[in-house]
Amino acid sequence: MTANSTHPETIVLHAGWRADPATNSVAVPIYQTTSYQFRDTEHAANLFALAEMGNIYTRIMNPTCDVLEQRIAALEGGVAALALASGQTASTFAITNLCQAGDNFVSSTNLYGGTWNLFANTLKQFGIECRFVDPEDPEAFVRATDERTRCWYAETLPNPKLEAFPIPEVARLAEQVGVPLIMDNTSAPVLCRPLAHGAHIVVYSTTKFIGGHGTSIGGMIVDGGTFDWEKHGKRFPLLTQPDPSYHGAVWTEAVKPLGPVAYIIRARVILLRDIGAAMSPFNAFQFIQGLETLPLRMRAHSDNAAAVAHFLAKHPKVTKVIYPGQMAGEARRRADSIFKHGYGALLGFELQGGAEAGRRFIDALKMFYHVANIGDSRSLAIHPASTTHSQLSPEDQLATGVTPGYVRLSVGIEHIDDILADLTRALEAA
Ligand code: PLP
Repeated sequence: MTANSTHPETIVLHAGWRADPATNSVAVPIYQTTSYQFRDTEHAANLFALAEMGNIYTRIMNPTCDVLEQRIAALEGGVAALALASGQTASTFAITNLCQAGDNFVSSTNLYGGTWNLFANTLKQFGIECRFVDPEDPEAFVRATDERTRCWYAETLPNPKLEAFPIPEVARLAEQVGVPLIMDNTSAPVLCRPLAHGAHIVVYSTTKFIGGHGTSIGGMIVDGGTFDWEKHGKRFPLLTQPDPSYHGAVWTEAVKPLGPVAYIIRARVILLRDIGAAMSPFNAFQFIQGLETLPLRMRAHSDNAAAVAHFLAKHPKVTKVIYPGQMAGEARRRADSIFKHGYGALLGFELQGGAEAGRRFIDALKMFYHVANIGDSRSLAIHPASTTHSQLSPEDQLATGVTPGYVRLSVGIEHIDDILADLTRALEAA
């Protein structure tokens, strides 16, 4: 019953695990091991040949990570998932699992600063070109696409602009063109399920809301299993041509008995095998704990953030509030078309006094933490222009939506009275 539940509250507690087969432990154990004893030489050979699935070495798979992968895959409605060392690894692998030197991909301009740098600079070093387009215009993805384009990429709710990405519209175009749409859903787990709106692959920084307690860095890729790689085979040689690094395996053929999992299996057995950015079992355990309360927390974050948005909108020192629930017109329509149960924890605002007022505000906060993170249960605040986005040029900062006086909040799940009291005090100083 629980395994088939479609309710996130049940999935996060039950999917992928009942009890430890060796000890009957109800909590998922931390399988802190590097390797796994083979039954015999035939078993070992079968595992290496992928004729049988099983544990070989923790760089490539681990039973604690496996439960987390199954749970997040179930939560997203995907076929399988891959746990990785960080959100940055997840986006790097999501792209390089399809692109090689000479290829390109199309991305929304509205990205987390670290992802922007990865796409604009580091992947360029590898010969992979990112073509940035304005997500306001879904057709721009089509115009930027040519025969060497391997995928499209965007964030569900990119901060700092916090304008919901038009997933259904762009996913429809991606299907027509024959490229997968990869969504970074870090800011909106549970509230938005990108695969249900037509996206093909989801990436997460589990560091944020999924962990929820600010203890561990991690990432995840979820394969929706819905993209037909063979139909568009010429575009995806890494999946449809013999792989010299795995005795000529053609991934779309080799994994057919396991289901539509060519993309995620290749990411595991090639990229994770060779690059090695694995999630530690201890961190997977922490994310499993976080996941158990994720639906409750996302609702509490959303309720508090909505109340903060309402409060700031009426404050005389605040010139602008950026929160999906406060937006009007097309931005609101897009948010309402993909969000359920609220708009999440992230909120931005601009102070009348510009950059100096922003700094004074941050320095006067007593309960909010001043950190370069989002998605902690505690309330967090930052001034992006002088911190997270400071490595971008002023033009690139503006392109990602960071003005000098912009303050970003990740509203936590404390009592709303305490949150508003801290904001009131800091606004007096701003
Ligand atoms: N994607 C988004 C939307 C993020 O906010 C972040 C980190 O802030 C990342 C990816 C990168 O994740 P990590 O810090 O786990 O590498």
